[in-house]
Amino acid sequence: MSLIYQSQVEELICRLYEEAAIKLPVDVKKALQDAYDLEEDQTALLNLDAILENIKIAEEKNLPLCQDTGLPIIFVKMGKVQVENLKEGIINGVKKATEEVPLRPNVVDPLTRKNTGNNIGRFIPQIDIELVDTDQLEITIFPKGFGSENNNALKMALPGEGEEGIKQFVLETVLSAGGKPCPPIVVGVGIGGSSDMSLKLAKKALLRKIGEHHSEERMANLEREMLEMVNATGIGPMGLGGKTTALDVKIEYADTHTAGLPIGVCIQCWAARRATGILK
Ligand code: SF4
Repeated sequence: MSLIYQSQVEELICRLYEEAAIKLPVDVKKALQDAYDLEEDQTALLNLDAILENIKIAEEKNLPLCQDTGLPIIFVKMGKVQVENLKEGIINGVKKATEEVPLRPNVVDPLTRKNTGNNIGRFIPQIDIELVDTDQLEITIFPKGFGSENNNALKMALPGEGEEGIKQFVLETVLSAGGKPCPPIVVGVGIGGSSDMSLKLAKKALLRKIGEHHSEERMANLEREMLEMVNATGIGPMGLGGKTTALDVKIEYADTHTAGLPIGVCIQCWAARRATGILK
């Protein structure tokens, strides 16, 4: 079994944070360009043009593409490897990225609102560890802006509400969010599990590339139907009207209790940042 050192984790976290903060993934950039090519409304075109220009300038000048560099959320897929001080490696990597990229210090005490100054805090960075059957350590940085995060929602639906209930709740959540989450958005939908699990599934669903549907046809169809439904709202880029309110809808699901149907909705903004790296 290979040994991964703390310094390797620190370096990777810092590099991935820089990549995520400055450069959007290719699939997200393509989806935004496709939205521009499809659009006819002049205001929507103006907004999409500003977003595309923003992305270009950030890359050229090596600067974060939005002033809100997000709450540090780290997804770890841990295979059969030994890692030296994983937690410390992640924390030091986030501290280093905060100084070097630089990232805006966003982390505060929830009540006093005192800023910790380095994006580290109690239970932050938020680390999600999934044990997998590989021989590597996979780390994904998911910096989450709160203009979008503030619009997430949970419903403990009744089992009988079924697919229609899920669609209705997603639509209600998107309508109530309107222009607040900086559309075009990506909508993550978590179905089943427990209350907290459904929200986590919704967030994990956002790790899938734009245009890549769920591997199960029934879920892929539901994703397509919900994307059409969300775009029919006409909320449009930055909430000022247009054809593209969402670039995609992503579902992840888990089996659940016979008495319930938890539905978690996690909204991602156009700055759908993520970066993944592997250590062996
Ligand atoms: S919601 Fe996204 S695009 Fe809007 S300010 Fe926050 S991070 Fe930036």
